Formats: sequence, structure tokens, C-alpha cells
Amino acid sequence: MTSDSQNIRVRIAPSPSGYLHVGTARTAIFNYLFARHNKGKFLIRIEDTDASRSRKELIEPIFSALKWLGMNGDEEIIYQSQRLGIYKDFAQKILDNGFGYRCFCSPEQLEKDREEAKKNKQPFHYNRRCLNLSQNEIEQKLADGEKFAIRIKIPSGETVFHDMVSGDLKRDNSEIEDFIIARSNGIATYNLAVVVDDHQMGITHVIRGNDHITNTFKQVHIYKALGFEPPQFGHVPLILRPDKRKVSKRLGDKDVAQYKEEGILPEAMFNYLTLLGWSPKTDREIYSVEELINIFTPDNFNASNAIFDEEKLLAFNKEHIARKTDHELAVLVAPLLVEAGITTKYWLETRWVYLRQVISLLKERVKRLTDFIALSNYFFNFDYKYELKAREKYFNLESAQWLSELAERFERLDPFTVETIETVITELAEKLGIKRGQLIHPTRLAVSGTSKGPGLYEMLYVLSRPIVIERIKRASDYIKKAYDLKEHI
Ligand code: GLU
Repeated sequence: MTSDSQNIRVRIAPSPSGYLHVGTARTAIFNYLFARHNKGKFLIRIEDTDASRSRKELIEPIFSALKWLGMNGDEEIIYQSQRLGIYKDFAQKILDNGFGYRCFCSPEQLEKDREEAKKNKQPFHYNRRCLNLSQNEIEQKLADGEKFAIRIKIPSGETVFHDMVSGDLKRDNSEIEDFIIARSNGIATYNLAVVVDDHQMGITHVIRGNDHITNTFKQVHIYKALGFEPPQFGHVPLILRPDKRKVSKRLGDKDVAQYKEEGILPEAMFNYLTLLGWSPKTDREIYSVEELINIFTPDNFNASNAIFDEEKLLAFNKEHIARKTDHELAVLVAPLLVEAGITTKYWLETRWVYLRQVISLLKERVKRLTDFIALSNYFFNFDYKYELKAREKYFNLESAQWLSELAERFERLDPFTVETIETVITELAEKLGIKRGQLIHPTRLAVSGTSKGPGLYEMLYVLSRPIVIERIKRASDYIKKAYDLKEHI
């Protein structure tokens, strides 16, 4: 696709008007993969010129969300707010070299024009009132101290650029108005700042959402006016909500950091987002970041918009959780357990093997890292309650007797392994003339308080003999006591 791949330089340019949302994260990922695949550079630029919408306190969270996904900038971060003087000079240059002109129209006048266009059911385009001012009129206005914006002059004809995703894109210049490049307060507009920055940062490829196509048609004219070589453009499909609307905070859509809080692995998020708008052209869906770097090519962008489906993300998460070793998961889950108050850091420090065993048992059942919290409580705490429905079903005087016998047999059992546990339970069920399940269910309820969980023999083994015996005895006492008191079980 690219001739001089060593020199590829791409960027992600978030505006700190909100936290990092999945659309910007996905655009960052495309740029990152393209850079890494070609051994190029991935840069970060903060687009914070709009003082009314930019919030300083959002910049750090944006970095940390990018970092969580494994993406750091390869060079110093560029802040547009520190470059206002540079943009001003370039706006002046456009004015001086005849590609732009001063516009003295007041906001009130422009609003009137807009109303007029609306009344006539016409799209509003600046009517070039100030393009036709004479030199004398201009000088008079300047002498009167009238404020002016700078507009770029769009010639007649058509604007064409090649898009990496959609091929040649064309627009008649009558549809591109003489847009403002510098406001009357001297501050550059988005389009001018982006062109100046992309040029000065040596950006070779601009990969961004297809909602920027209209901007690109404008930016092509700024490149021309400044005599800069434009980069290659690639406008990727947008990420939409299941209701086909654009992902938006206003509609309650989550930002990237919220998914982290909800137990999504960065690898899963990265993998899932990559496949929204890009395809590896195989049926395989689960990839590591390294694998994606290896196979990434911009030839495989999709043309149509993609739908963000949280269920699908969860399915990816489950797969990525399954790919991790017990130790890797233990490192991630330990702080979650401590934070949730399930156990303490000190307790875990001396019981790392136990934590790994617990994780190994539960791993198949979790879709989110945070699921480990709810599923593992009884491995760390005694104070669980017996589920109401399950205890009505499995706890009775008969099962209390079976449990007492089981505890006795476990006391004599040596060694206490998955296999010997299975043998004891099978033999006891045979002796009692009951099905194995009739013994397994009350035992599971006794040691965990719940009727669902991992394989019983493995679970008893991990819990360890003294704990298992203590819990079975406790359950059998609980049942007997409840019957003695004629209480509802
Ligand atoms: N700041 C723009 C945005 O967040 C990105 C502009 C660009 O990529 O050129 O949509």
C-alpha cells in the first residue's frame, strides 16, 4: 500500500471535550496498528483550541485510557492551545498570498443571512459579501478598527482527493463555502489548525472517521493555499449504536474507562474495536495485539458503518480471559477482590497458589474480570448464606445425616485428592442407596452456599480438607437445629 513504509507517521487527535469514547479509541487503534505494522510513528495531539468546550481535567483520563489499551505516543504530545501564534501566522500567510480575504460581517449579519437562506429553503453558504469589497472600503474598515475574520477563497471547479477506504472522492466547489480559517479574535478554526499541525508533524496518513469527509474537502484547499503536500486520507466507517444512531455520551454510551471498570480486558477491547470497520478477511475473530499488528493492512477497511454490540464485546472478553494464564489473571483479580472487601492484600500475599487455583476453577464461568468477585466470595469467606430455594430443595433431616457421614469419611480420607474425593462420594452414595447427585447437591450448598459453581470434586480439593469438613458439619448442624426448632429451613 505504501512505498516508503519506514517513514509512516500517523496521529490520533482527541478533543478533550469528553472522556475517550469507543469511536476515538477505535480510530486510535487503526492508526496505531498501521504505524506499528510499518514500523512508523504513532503520535498524539490534543485538540484543545475551543476554550468553551475543552476541559483540562479530561486530558489525563484520555491518556490513561489510551495507555490502558496499550497505546502511547512515540513523540512529545502536541497541544494545539500552545500553538495559537503559529496558526495566526499561517492565516496571515493565506491572506497575504491572495488565497484568503478579510470578512467584516458581524455575527448578527451572518445570522440574518442564515435565516434568509432557511426561509428560502436554501443551504446556507457565505454569500461572499466581503470578497467584493474594494481596497478603499477595506482600508476604511481597518482604520475604523472593525474586527474581521479570515476566510479562504474557494475557486470554482471541483475538489477531488483519493481516499484509502473509498477511492476517489469528489465534490463540486459550489458546495464548499468560503469558510473561516481565523476568527475575529485571531484564533484559528479547527480546519486551519489541523492542516498546519499535520504538516508540521510530518503526518503521512490521516486515518479518521468518515464524519470528517466534509472537513477534508475544506482542508485540501488549505493545503493548496499554503503550498503544503497533503497527506493520504483514509476515512473509516463510524461506530453506531444498535439503534443505528451515532455513539454518544448524551445517549448514555459508556466511555472506554467505564468498560475497564466493568471488567473488560484491554486486549478484548482492542481486538473487538479493531474488527469494527476493519476485517482480517478470515472467519477468525480472536487475535492478540501482536497478531493484529502483523496482519493489519488498510486495504481491509470496510465501507459500511459498524454496530457496537456489548454482548459481542463480552464474548470477546470471555475468550481473552480464557487465553490468560492463571497467574496473569491472579495479578489482575487480586486488587479487585481486595477493593471489593472479599479478602485482604496480606491474606493473599501468603496464599498466591490458592488464589491461582480458585481462578483456574472459575475462569470458564466468567465473562468479565469483575465476575470473579461475585463467584469467589465463598472461597475466602465463611459468612455466606445458603440460597433459599436451594436449601428448601436440598437441606432436610435425611441430607443432614448424609452430610455428617460424608464429613466422617473425609476425616479418614488420605490423601485428599480430586480422585479420592470422587471415590468417597460415589461409595457413600452407593452405600446409602441414593444417586450421586442427591449427595452432590447438598454438599455443594453446604460448602459454598450456592447451588451453582465449578466441578464439586475440584472445588472441595481447592477449599482443602479442614475447611470442607468444617463447612459440612456446620451445614448439618444448621439443618438439625432448624428442624429441632421446627423453623422453616
Ligand atoms: N479532534 C477531532 C475529533 O476528535 C479529530 C480531528 C482529526 O482527526 O483530524 O474528532
